[in-house]
Amino acid sequence: MQEKKRLVVATGNAHKLREIAEIFTDFEVVSQKEMGFDEDVEETGTTFAENALIKARAAAKALDCIALADDSGLCVDALGGAPGVYSARYCGYHGDDKKNRDLLLQNMQGKTDRRAHFTSAVALVYPDGKEIVVEGKTYGNILHEEQGDGGFGYDCIFESEDLKKSFGLAAAEEKNAVSHRFRALQALLEKWKEA
Ligand code: IMP
Repeated sequence: MQEKKRLVVATGNAHKLREIAEIFTDFEVVSQKEMGFDEDVEETGTTFAENALIKARAAAKALDCIALADDSGLCVDALGGAPGVYSARYCGYHGDDKKNRDLLLQNMQGKTDRRAHFTSAVALVYPDGKEIVVEGKTYGNILHEEQGDGGFGYDCIFESEDLKKSFGLAAAEEKNAVSHRFRALQALLEKWKEA
């Protein structure tokens, strides 16, 4: 049997890593930490694409290999696209999913327009400087309360237009068939084949 190609992912987020591995089953998906690079690179970009490139470039340079990074977030129409690139630190500091969701639900009180989408920008960077960056989106509505406890981040307050239920209630395979991350990774495969 042919050995799977290894793909290094520039993330410290175990949920993202798991989803990328579930979608990219033809690859041996490993984290940058497993490969010996554990730096928290500052995400100074103003777009998902810029931040994905920052993370992938840092890992590709440090490990001298092809690196993939996902930068993603939730954009809510009634909040002018917030939390957007600040999704992971909406409550003021990094990585408290529950506090982020509570603040979002609070800011959505009284809003009748509940439309929102997740965006994922995926960047693939080669050590020689070649770069591919693509985006995927998935649409839905912000619920009035949490539904389900699957997934991570904002999943349990996002009702998917495709699934007609919250990502928190969806099985991993259901979410992975329609998610922003799946769509971005599909787009990446297309471009990668052409490159
Ligand atoms: P990043 O590490 O800056 O890309 O942060 C992404 C943040 O966006 C996460 O911490 C989550 O809060 C949110 N997010 C991104 N993708 C998803 C998803 O698939 N489900 C739920 N929340 C997500």
